[in-house]
Amino acid sequence: MTSSPFPERWLVVEVATPADPHTTETLIDELSTLSGRGVEELPDRLVAYFVVDETEAPSSLRTIEDRLRAVTADAPIHVTHRWQAHEEWADLWRRGVVPKHITSRLVVSPTWERPELRPADLLISIDPGLAFGTAEHPTTRGCLRFLDGIVGKGQRVADIGTGSGILSVAAVLLGAGEVVAVDSDPWASAAARENAAANAVADRVEVVEMCVGPDFLPGRGLFDGIVSNLETKLLIPLLRGFRSGLRPEGWLVVSGVQLEEAEESILAAGSAGFSLVREDVEAGWWTGSFTV
Ligand code: SAH
Repeated sequence: MTSSPFPERWLVVEVATPADPHTTETLIDELSTLSGRGVEELPDRLVAYFVVDETEAPSSLRTIEDRLRAVTADAPIHVTHRWQAHEEWADLWRRGVVPKHITSRLVVSPTWERPELRPADLLISIDPGLAFGTAEHPTTRGCLRFLDGIVGKGQRVADIGTGSGILSVAAVLLGAGEVVAVDSDPWASAAARENAAANAVADRVEVVEMCVGPDFLPGRGLFDGIVSNLETKLLIPLLRGFRSGLRPEGWLVVSGVQLEEAEESILAAGSAGFSLVREDVEAGWWTGSFTV
């Protein structure tokens, strides 16, 4: 996750699929953690896409290869790389993404698919355009799993780092009366607006383009709940502000935290006045829900 998730060119890392399925699983998990995106599984190779500054590519590649060799305990792996233009990537992505059930009732689908739904299903249609947030990443799924069960009817919710707007749309479908969806990235804000409209919830989702700092959202009143899927180092300095923006008995759902950073995040949330309620881990990514 970066503040500008759309490079002109992606660094594409390909790893020949090893014979051992366990090693393959481990590689998929690690590639997904390192890239922050889904990993394509082709019959003969795994393909992962990285946002890397071209001048830093050699050292990034070295780090990626070192990590892959470390997690596979030096099993022989064959890694290659190439560059791919963003337009080509976006097109491939569109062809690859399929609708999925995230909870018993939340279904996320690309806007160009028409999934079959059961009567109680809640459909979130997303065209991420150039933003992060397609439910392809474990952190988005972790937030969705917690939102389903925590959002109360008519609540005011803040979605800090809304990306595609996926969590804001979910919050409204789950009963929120009003969501303030904030992102510092203009592309993400545009995508969030479009997705709110495409899901017919634009009247309940206010998209605000700003970089949230320690003061949270001055002048916007108190919220019943806050969801924020950011990297740990971005998240921790914001926790006190989140606390000051919540009503008594408010809730907080955070993700973007790697498992090994969970303890640090829980401690920081504790110092900011939050108590941990539940934790969820998927593919090395941690999501937590808190009360005040
Ligand atoms: N909520 C989506 C997207 C998460 S990606 C999901 O769960 O899938 C994180 C987003 O946070 C990015 O779009 C990035 O631009 C935004 N972001 C990072 N720091 C921010 C800050 N301080 N204020 C507002 N947005 C921020």
